[in-house]
Amino acid sequence: LGIGDDCAVIRLPRGHEALVTTDFSLEDVHFRRSWHPADSIGHRCLARGLSDIAAMGGIPQAAFLSLALPPELPQRWITQFLRGLLRLADRYEVLLAGGDTAQSQTGILADIVVLGSVPTRKAVLRSGARHGDLIYVSGTLGSSVAALNQLRKGQKLSTRSHAKHFYPEPRIEVGRYLRQRNLASAMIDISDGLSTDLGHICEESKTGAIVYAHSLPAAGGADGLALALHGGEEYELLFTARPERRVPKEIAGVPISLIGEIAGGRQMKLAKADGKTAVLKPGGWQHFS
Ligand SMILES: [Mg+2]
Repeated sequence: LGIGDDCAVIRLPRGHEALVTTDFSLEDVHFRRSWHPADSIGHRCLARGLSDIAAMGGIPQAAFLSLALPPELPQRWITQFLRGLLRLADRYEVLLAGGDTAQSQTGILADIVVLGSVPTRKAVLRSGARHGDLIYVSGTLGSSVAALNQLRKGQKLSTRSHAKHFYPEPRIEVGRYLRQRNLASAMIDISDGLSTDLGHICEESKTGAIVYAHSLPAAGGADGLALALHGGEEYELLFTARPERRVPKEIAGVPISLIGEIAGGRQMKLAKADGKTAVLKPGGWQHFS
């Protein structure tokens, strides 16, 4: 049961446990009204939560949206925001099951809670990577932040040709495929950038990692490597698998790239094609030595 009672009542599939994630989308922090159409903001708001469910190998079930809106905001903006959010929700059969609204004096604030489910004890965690595991990533990296950089320079972008930024696709099917086959030993979604999110896997798994620079599926143009390493809001899945497991080159129509390996120690390193390596730090990288 969704909207209409004091609480939503949700029954999870038999033998499943609940996954819950919550994300803020704040005006001038996560989006700008002058840069992003309202339906893109609605889409991105829900995509962030769905991507977290994907990263656990889960199936999204319901979403809860709380909105604080400035009084002068046109109704048209709200309608378009909801249209973008609900279009994505429909695609993954996610029920918008509740929420709250309030007036804001400080711009638009949207808080999304997504409830998902996963078979009991089957959620893919960040902590399962082991020395020798191989590191994979779905899709391409860097184009979302590349688009953001263009917006910062005042360029007008077509939302269609920059869909990766305006309408990112959460990798629900990829995450589910990996979980069903027990392929992924650890997994996270790339929301803060590969170097930061791989850092989370290393931290939770107490390992180091080597990333092969030449293997990154970089899509960001001239600064491709830096954008692929550090660009956020990609909503791709970063995962590890035991070296003997065969990981398909494509899952649910999404290309999968082998980009490195889990190492001993606690450091992340970047390996160049010529064999030289550099320390890879979350969010910022040192030049090749
Ligand atoms: Mg996440």
